[in-house]
Amino acid sequence: MTIFTKIINKEIPATIVYEDEHCLAFRDIHPQAPVHVLLIPKKAIPTLNDVSPADQLLLGHMLLVAPRIASQEGIAADGYRLVFNTNRDAGQTVAHIHLHILGGRALGWPPG
Ligand code: AMP
Repeated sequence: MTIFTKIINKEIPATIVYEDEHCLAFRDIHPQAPVHVLLIPKKAIPTLNDVSPADQLLLGHMLLVAPRIASQEGIAADGYRLVFNTNRDAGQTVAHIHLHILGGRALGWPPG
């Protein structure tokens, strides 16, 4: 079980900004931008490499929810970035897929 399952189960605190039956979004504890929210599925999937066709609706749902959160956070018009870090080279540290929603400042490209 990862720390994100504990957040889903409300066993440890998080600043939740969105929740429905399929997913949960909360503020990153070490924000890398003025707005840094993590959107996670309630289903525990370790990495994006582990998704299956059965997850198609869930992943599509997350991509519909993310812009709603961006709008709620006031960053939709100016812009934001969505990131799934996957495994070592991308710096994934929690083995439960999470979509970073980053915005509130001009974001550099390419990533470091
Ligand atoms: P990643 O490096 O892509 O695996 O992202 C994991 C993210 O989870 C990092 O940005 C961490 O700051 C964040 N994080 C870890 N633990 C917590 C927590 N308890 N509450 C909120 N965010 C967390």
